[in-house]
Amino acid sequence: MTSILYALARRLALLLPSELRLHELRQLLAPGGHSLLLSQRRATMIVNRVRLFAFLFAVLTPLWSLIDLMVFNRDLWISLAACRVVTCAAFACLLLLYRPNGKLFDAYRAIAILFAIPTLFYIASHTLLGGQHHDQVSAAVATGYAFLPFVLMAGLAIFPLTLQENLLLVALLLAAQLIAGYLSWSTLSWPSFAGGFWLLILIAGVTALASMSQLAFMIALVRQAIHDPLTGVLSRGSGEEILDLHWHGAKRNDTRLSVVFIDVDHFKSINDEFGHEAGDNVLRELARRLQKSLRQSDSLLRWGGEEFLLIMPGADLKQARQALERIISSGLGLRPDGRPLTASIGIAERLADNASDCRELLDLADQRMYLAKQSGRNRIIEQLSRAS
Ligand code: GH3
Ligand code: MG
Ligand code: MG
Repeated sequence: MTSILYALARRLALLLPSELRLHELRQLLAPGGHSLLLSQRRATMIVNRVRLFAFLFAVLTPLWSLIDLMVFNRDLWISLAACRVVTCAAFACLLLLYRPNGKLFDAYRAIAILFAIPTLFYIASHTLLGGQHHDQVSAAVATGYAFLPFVLMAGLAIFPLTLQENLLLVALLLAAQLIAGYLSWSTLSWPSFAGGFWLLILIAGVTALASMSQLAFMIALVRQAIHDPLTGVLSRGSGEEILDLHWHGAKRNDTRLSVVFIDVDHFKSINDEFGHEAGDNVLRELARRLQKSLRQSDSLLRWGGEEFLLIMPGADLKQARQALERIISSGLGLRPDGRPLTASIGIAERLADNASDCRELLDLADQRMYLAKQSGRNRIIEQLSRAS
């Protein structure tokens, strides 16, 4: 029995997106565990796609009026055309006024507005059309209006969303469909409404898969783009972006932000005596040990060859020093000859050093690291004048 279950679980595991690592699968479920950078890129992508959608609808919505003109009576056409003009204007505003800023909350709001506009249009047009008698042609066009919820549901597929976000949006769209059904219940054909509702649920399932696979690709791409291939920690390019985000966050909330430069002592001699491969292994082990002892909010990045930068939001100089002393006491790893690996470390903090920008903070930490080298290596310095 257990072997059957095991085989089944293995088969099911093959269906999971192979571009993701096991620990990343959780990120497909809810946005809570997403890194700052992933959230930021996703927010930008969502807003850009909302704007694309808004553009498409702003153009298509008024065009459909020509078809309405041919099949509906004048009064109905005027009412529908008025709805279309308002809808088109709303889409145009969304397109013109919304710009990506990397904030997830704003991205959610953009999706909510994007879906609210046609949903309101759908409910309004449904009510207008429901109160009318149609001949064969106009009835066919009126049926066309009923496809709008399907278009919206399918539209979800263009966004990189988690399961939780998908479920929420799907629930809202289904609720809108129920409201539209309720508003026209006297004229509603229940079997076709139920059939349509079921189809909507099926489409929701397919689009949720589509949007989650978009998210899976995005997670994998962001990981590849931002990590250093040798050590697996963040690479310098993405690290600068992260530092910038933390800097602005700390400034906005007036909180502390420590940055730490770590430079391995006499690393070149490892390469010279034991070869480049041995040097690589030492770097990998060092990165693993540093990473292991960090807090969730800290970021470790490889700044260059054997130099690492540690970003510690919320930590003052004392806390940063304590964290590093703890890491050093448990060891930075061994040199190939068995001697312990040491590093020279410089720390700077936004408020204590009264840094006016991110660059200045980095420069200070860098200068202190060099001071640590000059003072004999294997030490931490968090003030320009004093070594310990
Ligand atoms: P100091 O104590 O003054 O920092 O001396 P050091 O030898 O650590 O510093 P130096 O800057 O003289 O040498 C750094 C060396 O790191 C030189 C370079 O060959 C080596 N290096 C840079 N990137 C890598 C890498 O990815 N793998 C390996 N194995 N070595 C690297
Ligand atoms: Mg160096
Ligand atoms: Mg060095």
